[in-house]
Amino acid sequence: MAHEYERLLPAFPEFCACDVCRDDVIVYTLNRLPPRYVTQRRGAVLAHLRVQRDQEVADVSVALMQAFMRVQDAPRPGVEHRLPAGSGG
Ligand SMILES: [Zn+2]
Repeated sequence: MAHEYERLLPAFPEFCACDVCRDDVIVYTLNRLPPRYVTQRRGAVLAHLRVQRDQEVADVSVALMQAFMRVQDAPRPGVEHRLPAGSGG
């Protein structure tokens, strides 16, 4: 999942890639996917996806892209959007 996020990130140059927005994208994506895609680690915000088949990769990519667009259009208010250090472009 995290690497799917990073793979699609360059496709959204205007996306705020701070930790808050990243988490929002991932949570939004996970909420849209069937539970079988998701294995949650105890207490972790990030979850790992088991993606085996091409169709599943496509499902995750579509959900991720929708999440990118949604968070880009409406970043979470009331939080500090700080880009992580070392994220040069
Ligand atoms: Zn942000």
